[in-house]
Amino acid sequence: MSEKFNVADIFGEDVFNDTIMKERLPKHVYQNLKETIVNGADLSFSDADVIANAMKEWAIEKGATHYTHWFQPLTGITAEKHDSFISAPNASGKILMEFSGKELIKGEPDASSFPSGGLRATFEARGYTAWDCTSPAFVREDAAGATLCIPTAFCSYTGEALDQKTPLLRSMQALNIQALRILKLFGNTTAKKVMPSVGAEQEYFIVDREKYLQRKDLIFSGRTLFGAMPPKGQELEDHYFGAIRERIASFMKDVNKELWKLGVSAKTQHNEVAPAQHELAPIYAQCNIAVDHNQLTMETLKKVAGRHGLTCLLHEKPFAGVNGSGKHNNWSITTDTGLNLLEPGKTPHDNIQFLLVLTAIMKAIDIHSDLLRESASCVGNDHRLGANEAPPAIISMFLGEQLEDVIAQLISTGGATSSIQKADLDTGVKSLPNLSKDATDRNRTSPFAFTGNKFEFRMVGSSDSISSANVVLNTIVAESFCEIADELEKAENLDLAVHDLIKKLASDHHRIVFNGNGYSEEWVVEANRRGLPNITSMVDAIPTLLTPKAIAVFEKFGVYTETELHSRVEIKFEAYAKAINIEAKAMIDIAGKQLIPTVIAYTTELANSVVTVTEAGSDASTQKALLDEISSYLSEMKAASSALVIADNEANEIADAQEQAKYFRDVVKPAMIALRTPADKLEMIVDKEFWPFPSYGDLLFEV
Ligand code: ADP
Ligand code: MG
Repeated sequence: MSEKFNVADIFGEDVFNDTIMKERLPKHVYQNLKETIVNGADLSFSDADVIANAMKEWAIEKGATHYTHWFQPLTGITAEKHDSFISAPNASGKILMEFSGKELIKGEPDASSFPSGGLRATFEARGYTAWDCTSPAFVREDAAGATLCIPTAFCSYTGEALDQKTPLLRSMQALNIQALRILKLFGNTTAKKVMPSVGAEQEYFIVDREKYLQRKDLIFSGRTLFGAMPPKGQELEDHYFGAIRERIASFMKDVNKELWKLGVSAKTQHNEVAPAQHELAPIYAQCNIAVDHNQLTMETLKKVAGRHGLTCLLHEKPFAGVNGSGKHNNWSITTDTGLNLLEPGKTPHDNIQFLLVLTAIMKAIDIHSDLLRESASCVGNDHRLGANEAPPAIISMFLGEQLEDVIAQLISTGGATSSIQKADLDTGVKSLPNLSKDATDRNRTSPFAFTGNKFEFRMVGSSDSISSANVVLNTIVAESFCEIADELEKAENLDLAVHDLIKKLASDHHRIVFNGNGYSEEWVVEANRRGLPNITSMVDAIPTLLTPKAIAVFEKFGVYTETELHSRVEIKFEAYAKAINIEAKAMIDIAGKQLIPTVIAYTTELANSVVTVTEAGSDASTQKALLDEISSYLSEMKAASSALVIADNEANEIADAQEQAKYFRDVVKPAMIALRTPADKLEMIVDKEFWPFPSYGDLLFEV
């Protein structure tokens, strides 16, 4: 593992990027393709043929034998169908390696096994993948060999989106159009395109693969369904930023190398709060590319972990009682001329354009906080949101001292005249540079925090795609920009109108701003008083997609049709029911086949010991008491297991997706906890030699 490489040399070497395109495509084809990438111009079939051929030649040089349309169905992971480049043998028995423009542009995967929420059934049992040329193709190597991966969108025959990417691209278009209107009001005529920039910080756990393979709960559900907390817990914060152990270090080195080759600019890595937990952050990129890169990051983490005898757990809550994993979605809005609309400058109080953008975002988040909350809901995230570790289930915005002060001035006097300046951080050491304290100081408990020149949405689950979060952000901000532009474009005195509007937006939507401790009980009470929604479960979040306001905003900006929203709602309820069903069945299996037999074996040994000790004339009361205690937990466990079987069967009888999901949440989940409780108590008192699988301690502290 001591292999040396130069990052600059390998970065992007497996990507069909701009440099490669320029090198390998005839000049006019390259220019046409650039037109398509930047301005969405149509690409001719003959150009597509030329591009496909160049891509194929390049991929074959990299050892590729197959190509695949790489897409993101509604399951949160990626899917692909591999086809080889090989054509039918010709008359002389020779084969050719072929790849046409048609094959590049469009694919027809057998889509019937991907969730469509009833969409495809109403049209045709076929889905189409369409090349997204704004995200570069790449060659990926794994045990199966090298494959040319073509990022695509996945749609039904009639164009309904069956994936995460199509709505994302639509939402980016909407934001582009509306943001350009705002810029134009301020006299900016040089910017031709405005795109969201995103950087996703990814958290994950690493455990030893041998140990992982001994735990059916991890294998089936990605999280532990049983397990007592080890005596050595998270209170030992020395793990945080601790020296990354050798084995992990070598794994990370490999991950970085793989990601760099794929053009993912993995930049920072460190140990997280929980033991065995780590984080990886890339340098931010255009929204859809960042989404693709995050998918690649998750795939790479899993693949490389396997090579190192490790397993990467992306679940939001692999271990009860230990901090879970999330994803921070850093989001800003950038013009093609390099201007970040969220850059406040040194004196935000007189940066009118920034203040308009900021208050527009306040409005968007306030009006659609339920949608933003929904966008971060996935089955595993229900264990985090609202619990005492992740941001709360209530959406609020953190602005920091400086902006909060500017907003307060705006509301009270209608104009802001000053900005609090950064304080110097005095280290007391002359040789150290003077550090200035960030004026947008950090609040780690806010779900949507302004951090310098971007917003950080901290609710997304670690296993989830960041796509829906960005779809919502882009769309609701596009709506807010649109309403503002509608009003200002017809104003007689623009300066005055902007001034009044900023004050009005700040006053009307100030309730969404909260700078205090988001984890506190007082905030729950205060948020309720302010009328902010507190949606504590995925099952309650899903229906927010079908409120009249949600349908209106998504339809108006062409992001989702009402039909597409219905299908997503259906899929989400099904996903919830399916996941809990798997967990319940795994628990029943583990309890019945592993835990109960183990405990019976142990009680038999204890009983023998009681008899032998008593016969020898000694006091066996301690053994006897322990035997009684264990036997009582054992019968509790057996009864709870039978009850869970019944609850799970009942849940499976329910036909309506929403009702079924509710039943799983309200009846099956509590029945699972009732089974887990005595089992975890038993784990603490039964001899460790007997316990059938590795404990939390073994998993968390022995990587
Ligand atoms: P931390 O939250 O750990 O303090 P950083 O400030 O280093 O993190 O950035 C975290 C992530 O935010 C990185 O992925 C980074 O690339 C991304 N990021 C930085 N600036 C922007 C921006 N203007 N827009 C979007 N993402 C950004
Ligand atoms: Mg962060």
